[in-house]
Amino acid sequence: MTELRLEGVSKRYGSAEGGTSALTGIDLTVRDGEFFTLVGPSGCGKTTTLRTIAGFEVPTEGTVSFDGEPITDIPPEGRDVGVVFQSYALFPHMSVAENVGYGLQFRDPPTGTTVDERVSELLDLVDLSGMGERSPDQLSGGQRQRVALARALAPEPDLLLLDEPMSALDARLRESLRLQLKRIQSELAITTVYVTHDQEEALAISDRLAVMRDGELEQVGRPQEIYREPATRFVAEFVGDNNVLDGVVRDSEVLPSGRKRGRTRVDVGDTAFELEGVSEDARRVSFCVRPDSLSREADRNRFTVDVETTEFLGESVRAHGNWNDIPVVLRLEEVPDDTVTVGFAPDDVHVVERW
Ligand code: ATP
Repeated sequence: MTELRLEGVSKRYGSAEGGTSALTGIDLTVRDGEFFTLVGPSGCGKTTTLRTIAGFEVPTEGTVSFDGEPITDIPPEGRDVGVVFQSYALFPHMSVAENVGYGLQFRDPPTGTTVDERVSELLDLVDLSGMGERSPDQLSGGQRQRVALARALAPEPDLLLLDEPMSALDARLRESLRLQLKRIQSELAITTVYVTHDQEEALAISDRLAVMRDGELEQVGRPQEIYREPATRFVAEFVGDNNVLDGVVRDSEVLPSGRKRGRTRVDVGDTAFELEGVSEDARRVSFCVRPDSLSREADRNRFTVDVETTEFLGESVRAHGNWNDIPVVLRLEEVPDDTVTVGFAPDDVHVVERW
């Protein structure tokens, strides 16, 4: 059982003057048994963080510890860590069973089991029993990735690290593998750090996640918190297709509905909105409204969107358009006309910046 902690971790590649700063002052605790995800756009430092945890990179500054024990200078083979990368990296000349048993040459199988027993236990766990004799090229992409997972788990590592393990698979397969991974992880209660650039995947699979940007942690929280209460504009835009509007706070006595108190008038361009939960001491605010909070039926805060593209998603339609040059994403029940008027409830917003 392992708690992972990163304190003040920075990583610079190349020389101090001319190099690239990949991570700056990362403070992070991943709790024992937690499924924790690092998510963010390309180049934000996810892989570097994972490689630092595995020991493939030594941080320029800061410490990494497992259960309070500093392990910053211990090489990868001295850390009890199982790693799965994007490319399956199975040994092509070995059978599936030999691949899974590979790590057990260097580390004993868990007490009371033989190597063969452990391998068959692991193949069962990833639903590949009976496939041990096959060679990796006789497997589908999803099956190979499950072998890679079984191989990483065989020596019972303290920590499981996964770097975009599903990005080479198609969408449906990714979804089913993700459910399987989640089931296995919670069955074993193994502390897990997962890297993805896919925000939907991150929200679906994690106990908690960190949204990264330019080598820093922008926000850490449970999926619901990150989705409903993004701490910054970047998180709001990166996660959940949020619409972010910039407004000027006006005297709270003059509200579009004629109501006197409890709400604040915020003007976006020439349009007056009526919001709840906006403190009046700010002069300007940026607030976000989720696509599914914008509806044709809402009788407050209405505005008309020019629709540019629509995507049929089965149960709903996602429409992209703009209102006064502000990009807007809507989630509607039916395909809209060229323009659609929507509104939102005054309390269905979240302020991301105020100044
Ligand atoms: P992606 O999603 O594209 O894999 P990432 O979030 O995993 O990106 P990293 O691979 O950690 O990002 O890279 C972070 C930064 O460090 C980037 O600017 C990258 O160019 C740089 N970087 C990564 N590895 C090296 C290296 N070995 N030498 C120099 N710079 C590097």
